[in-house]
Amino acid sequence: MKLIGRRQFLKTSLSGLALATLPAISFSQSNPDVVVIGAGSAGLSATAELMKKGISVLCVEAMNRIGGRCYADTSTFGIPIDIGGHWLHGFSENQLAKFGKKHKDKFKIYPEDAPSVVYDGKRKVEANELWRIYKELKKIRSTNITDVPFITLVPEKIKKSSWFDTAAKMVGDARDLDNFSTYDDNSNWYDPGTGDGLCREGYGTLLAYYRKDVPVKLNTIVSEIKWGGKGVQVVTNKGTINAKACIVTTSIEVIKAEKIKFTPALPARKIKALDGISMTYSNRVLMQLNKKFYNAKRIKNDTWFHTKCKSNGVKSPETYYGSLKMGGSNVSLFGISGQFAKDLGDEGEEAMIDFILNDLKSTFGSKFYKKYFIKAKAIAWSKNPYTLGSYTGAIPGKSRNLRRELRMPVGDRVFFAGEATAMAFSTVHGADRSGARAVKDLYISPALD
Ligand SMILES: Cc1cc2nc3c(=O)[nH]c(=O)nc-3n(C[C@H](O)[C@H](O)[C@H](O)COP(=O)(O)OP(=O)(O)OC[C@H]3O[C@@H](n4cnc5c(N)ncnc54)[C@H](O)[C@@H]3O)c2cc1C
Repeated sequence: MKLIGRRQFLKTSLSGLALATLPAISFSQSNPDVVVIGAGSAGLSATAELMKKGISVLCVEAMNRIGGRCYADTSTFGIPIDIGGHWLHGFSENQLAKFGKKHKDKFKIYPEDAPSVVYDGKRKVEANELWRIYKELKKIRSTNITDVPFITLVPEKIKKSSWFDTAAKMVGDARDLDNFSTYDDNSNWYDPGTGDGLCREGYGTLLAYYRKDVPVKLNTIVSEIKWGGKGVQVVTNKGTINAKACIVTTSIEVIKAEKIKFTPALPARKIKALDGISMTYSNRVLMQLNKKFYNAKRIKNDTWFHTKCKSNGVKSPETYYGSLKMGGSNVSLFGISGQFAKDLGDEGEEAMIDFILNDLKSTFGSKFYKKYFIKAKAIAWSKNPYTLGSYTGAIPGKSRNLRRELRMPVGDRVFFAGEATAMAFSTVHGADRSGARAVKDLYISPALD
């Protein structure tokens, strides 16, 4: 997700790792002490932590797989390719990176040290002006704690540059600068780790293996949490589960869109916090290209790729970035973000693939498709009913105390985890830590008495 910042893949055993076989569980275990809702990074972590403490737990997941927004698809290209979380942020202290390094036989974990290539039309350029503006915007991003839209902090002379839209997308990541609070980044965020890393086999593969011993009840969609009486009743498409407490780890938008109804309704302070946050849009096009392309252009593994944005002046610049030759494979990742990503995602996968292909053709010539294209897959996270977006960003003007409030339990029986509640929010490792934190909250509450 973050822009600041194989040789041939082993097709063998690793391609099956993302869907690691999970122990089957029967619904007779359906009245545990704790229900964990969602089996993404946070839910798997919370469940593992409860199991460690010997507390009976049932983790339910709406989709037919675990991992949530951190998942490596193996079926499209025959090798594991991340369709969501990919970079191991906070690398120096990232607990999943440390785990992966201990399992050298299965994973290659390495610090990101990727070169960048920039094109202005058909020309490969040094783009000194792009990097200068990018640096200035990065400085504004990392030092400002006024809770106003980022765009209002940008000097007019920077906005006038023909490289501004390209740089704005690089710095804004999944957020357009009119919907970006630097306060959220600088005051609500904490991560002891620094730098970014990568896992050659995919972050999704690593997460699935890290949590391979966690049992999950798949295809189980929660529609209501009743918390007004004793304990909680969690209503699902497979029946109602009675428990002493639950930990909700779904994306914020799933809660905001009332896909899960709370009875009674959540308290006003929680609703206010939910009003202060939204999901950002970061959609993906993954493209398998003939090796000749990478050789002809001398592309190194995991190369950052940018082209000059041609939609100057619009609120959500119509551009994208690339990470070429992921982990040394012949697959490249293209990221489309902001409101433009949402709109394009609404048009469908074909429109997303066409957008990238057309730009690649105008950069590398009209024969690009015929010469190099093998296949592509597009993922619009905004359309996934169980995520409804990619990761969270505070709404400018509403960032103060926001994430602390999102962490707060309700009625000593409904607990909250997930990336939005994490200190290192919007990340896989932050979500993982949030699961353990929610278990701590639960453990020191009277919920299990
Ligand atoms: C395109 C993209 C790129 C990203 N890039 C990075 C990156 O490079 N590095 C990084 O660290 N992070 C990245 N992130 C963010 C990271 O993936 C997320 O922050 C993290 O995976 C969220 O984990 P979570 O457990 O909080 O939520 P989720 O992964 O969303 O897990 C919640 C689970 O709840 C389930 N659920 C939803 N509704 C229900 C229901 N009604 N009943 C039962 N279950 C339900 C969902 O299916 C899901 O599995 C990226 C995300 C996306 C989408």
